[in-house]
Amino acid sequence: MHEEPCMRCQGKGSLVCEECQGKRKIRKEMVTEKCKACNGTGRVKCPSCRGGVAWVKD
Ligand SMILES: [Zn+2]
Ligand SMILES: [Zn+2]
Repeated sequence: MHEEPCMRCQGKGSLVCEECQGKRKIRKEMVTEKCKACNGTGRVKCPSCRGGVAWVKD
């Protein structure tokens, strides 16, 4: 069975965090805190392929 790379993340397995827009931090009023959605990484696992690391080879 041939699987196509995920269309949503182009096979990267991760997406730019929507909460912080990849900035890793969220500014709330007077304070800036680490984004909880991505745990400060700026990226989140792709929900479509759940971080399909099968496509990523470093
Ligand atoms: Zn984030
Ligand atoms: Zn994906």
